[in-house]
Amino acid sequence: MSLKTLFIASECAPIAKIGGLADVTGALPKALKPLGVDVSVILPFYKVIKIKKNKLKLVKKNIPVIFNRKKESFNLWKTFLPNTNVPLFLIENKKYFSGKGVYVESDASSGGSEAEAGRFLFLSVAGIEIAKLMNADILHCQDWHTAIIPFIIKKEGHKIKTLLTIHNLGYQGIYPNKLVNKFLGTNFPEKNVNCLKLGILNTDLLNTVSKTYSREILTKKYGEGLKKILLKRKKDLSGILNGIDQDRFNPKTDSSLKANYSFSNLNKKKENKIDLQRILKLPQNQKTPLFSFIGRLTSQKGVDLICKIAPFLVNSSCQLVVLGKGERKYEKNLLKLARKYKKNISVKIKFDSALAQNIYAGSDFFLMPSKFEPCGLGQLISQRYGTIPIGRETGGLSDTIRHGKTGFLFKEYKAEAFLRSIKRALKFYQNEKEWKKLIERAMKKDFSWKKSAKEYIKLYRKLLS
Ligand code: ADP
Repeated sequence: MSLKTLFIASECAPIAKIGGLADVTGALPKALKPLGVDVSVILPFYKVIKIKKNKLKLVKKNIPVIFNRKKESFNLWKTFLPNTNVPLFLIENKKYFSGKGVYVESDASSGGSEAEAGRFLFLSVAGIEIAKLMNADILHCQDWHTAIIPFIIKKEGHKIKTLLTIHNLGYQGIYPNKLVNKFLGTNFPEKNVNCLKLGILNTDLLNTVSKTYSREILTKKYGEGLKKILLKRKKDLSGILNGIDQDRFNPKTDSSLKANYSFSNLNKKKENKIDLQRILKLPQNQKTPLFSFIGRLTSQKGVDLICKIAPFLVNSSCQLVVLGKGERKYEKNLLKLARKYKKNISVKIKFDSALAQNIYAGSDFFLMPSKFEPCGLGQLISQRYGTIPIGRETGGLSDTIRHGKTGFLFKEYKAEAFLRSIKRALKFYQNEKEWKKLIERAMKKDFSWKKSAKEYIKLYRKLLS
């Protein structure tokens, strides 16, 4: 079986990255290819993507599609994912992709504006056209941005099979029916059209990015209003854990670091801590316990809990480093804390991949008190860098942190529970032998894509059987 598979997504690292979705679409194909999958990735040609830097070549001009009830067209560009033979195709269309950024909306985006709807509905329609041209067997749709594809494929009666991966059920892509009907020439009678919901109902198979999250979303608490619909598809729903690109995230070779290290020379890790403290203008001291957080500043990520426990960290002579962007209220609260506790807290409101690496390597503890977490990559990267995660027992955090062995977990979404686990972690930190054992176990965990890639292949085969 050839398994000609096209990933179709809004993000792909390193060319267009906002969050974890980009890491997945940038790394999973790389793991699938050597296992015999004929895989390519399709992405919009955003304005931020540069031709020269990415060695893009124009492969086909003026491919026609019907969109917005008229003839439209797009050009197809090609390059390869860096250091791989995985083709990456970019769809060029001045009208729908030339606006700023990856998303039109300011956050990771759950829909809203006409420009956003146009952008991702066009991506979906063009993606199907490419799949037809290339004779693809499978379109592997990622999140709401391309979740309308299974619906269109069924409606138009194409042979292509679909797999929908839900990276975050919190974002669904909900648009007024008028807008969707205009762009797609459909006749949805309901007031709002929910792209993810249509995807869930129409896709051949679906999965989420951890086993625990795939069970959680079948409950009211985590179902984001789609529990009933998901229960209908229960037998076709599975959970496959995300991995990380272990070549890219490797403390032995990471060129962003002051000093490369492995488990056998952990002293070098401390040099990164001193360097991080220097970069962030915090007092430089190897012994000071250093906590960090990297991520989108949204309610999902538990930023309010971090703000609540920050004074405890200050009173216990610890340091806290935060790198992220997101909702204004969280940015403001965090910056206020950093101004108040200059010697203990540093907050950087920006997206900065190199600084992120310095933080993963230079910290002792990595905080992930998420309300929900489909998989989470921060805790995987931090363990790889010997930085001990403290996370809430939910979704992928439950599946990847071994409590008391490679990190710490707490149950209730409450500052008290979070604090208890922080205090426990600090106890370990004070016992050098125990702490080293923890770091060793964390660094030795295999978070590569190998195992998960095989599970995806099983799903692809099931689709074609
Ligand atoms: P998400 O819900 O955003 O997908 P994940 O934990 O799955 O969360 O993945 C987030 C990814 O983005 C991680 O690789 C993290 O290091 C990275 N990241 C998030 N915010 C920033 C930032 N401000 N600067 C650099 N990297 C970031």
